[in-house]
Amino acid sequence: MSTLPQERRVVTAIPGPKSQELQSRRTASVAAGVGSVMPVFAARADGGIVEDVDGNRFIDFGSGIAVTTVGASAEAVVRRASAQLADFTHTCFMVTPYEGYVEVAEQLAELTPGDHAKKSALFNSGAEAVENAVKIARAYTKRTAVVVFDHGYHGRTNLTMALTSKNMPYKQGFGPFAPEVYRVPVAYGYRWPTGAENAGAEASAQAIDQINKQIGAENVAAIIIEPVLGEGGFIEPAKGFLPAIRQFASDNGIVFVADEIQSGFCRTGQWFACEDEGIVPDLITTAKGIAGGLPLSAVTGRAEIMDAAHSGGLGGTYGGNPVACAGALGAIETMRELDLNAKAKRIEAVMKPRLTAMQEKFDIIGDVRGRGAMIAIELVKSGTKEPHPEATAQIAKACHAEGVLVLTTGTYGNVVRFLPPLVIGEELLTDGLDVLEAAFAAL
Ligand SMILES: *Cc1c(COP(=O)(O)O)cnc(C)c1O
Repeated sequence: MSTLPQERRVVTAIPGPKSQELQSRRTASVAAGVGSVMPVFAARADGGIVEDVDGNRFIDFGSGIAVTTVGASAEAVVRRASAQLADFTHTCFMVTPYEGYVEVAEQLAELTPGDHAKKSALFNSGAEAVENAVKIARAYTKRTAVVVFDHGYHGRTNLTMALTSKNMPYKQGFGPFAPEVYRVPVAYGYRWPTGAENAGAEASAQAIDQINKQIGAENVAAIIIEPVLGEGGFIEPAKGFLPAIRQFASDNGIVFVADEIQSGFCRTGQWFACEDEGIVPDLITTAKGIAGGLPLSAVTGRAEIMDAAHSGGLGGTYGGNPVACAGALGAIETMRELDLNAKAKRIEAVMKPRLTAMQEKFDIIGDVRGRGAMIAIELVKSGTKEPHPEATAQIAKACHAEGVLVLTTGTYGNVVRFLPPLVIGEELLTDGLDVLEAAFAAL
């Protein structure tokens, strides 16, 4: 755990000389397909700050893509994971089980929506959790088809590439993809042809019609949706959409899977984003924020569905690693003790009015959306809804140069997203927004 000063500081050109040196070693030794948002190498990170090897301190508006919700060196995560490291690093849960895994499963049963009997299985990555949710749903329903949505993102493995909607950079050249995956419309309010107020009803009707006509509801094992679409551009499905799809799944014996890998664990001001519309999923996939940065993911859901896979059918060498489980227990402890749901709502209360005021000043900001500490702005060409990815890249670059780490996203590459650690101080938040506003003014 560091004692990193919580202030922005730019002391070199970005990237600085040490980062540049590391970048040339990286270029020579790391595969080109693995990209980075900026060529700056981390030395320490804590609270709302990432410090690089040249001593620059960046305000963290990314949390390593919604992972370090509790900070990147949270006391309880470091304490519990360090103690576990000293006891043992691995036995393999499938060989010699240990308490931490069971405790994480118990916590997941308690925290996820619904008061039915629940069970969990633990894995390493988000993609692995989604793959296993599909395996479990197929075993339970004895059906094969999987329904996903426009703008959805579910990972980079073969099956999850098939589930992911965007071609570049995730799929281009990497096929053929897994079969029996079907994509239907989602209620993207800002871009819905007849307006946001109609999007929920019309998009759900279209999605359901396509499932009935093109697949046959009786062939569908699972419907998988992100309650707030992450890589698609922080799209909150318009009101009424999620309940309609959830109801359709119930009526047709389809397993409804909420992919809360990005939106879960306090990110939106609830333990899970689907709670905002009272949705109780059959299965829920979690990862990212779950373990304070240690690699862990889970599928949690109705006990009778989770138990449909035969013994030995689920698992993996490292799944539910004991150090990662200890990290998760530390992260959950932190979320409870610091009431990070309230912190997420407070971040929204600071960010949204500032961003809305910027939208009135700068007409390339077409939309401000999201909730909690999962907030985004969508950039368009003035007076149109035409996506403006060039301006988006310029804004991000300008923020990086001034010591603010922002990420971009969206199907059209025209969304700036804000995912600060929930433990970020309010002064850093405001300072980061000042830098963003100056970047728009200078554009
Ligand atoms: C990041 C993400 C995944 C994939 O998680 P990995 O750990 O990168 O495999 C899946 N679904 C959603 C919604 C995500 O945001």
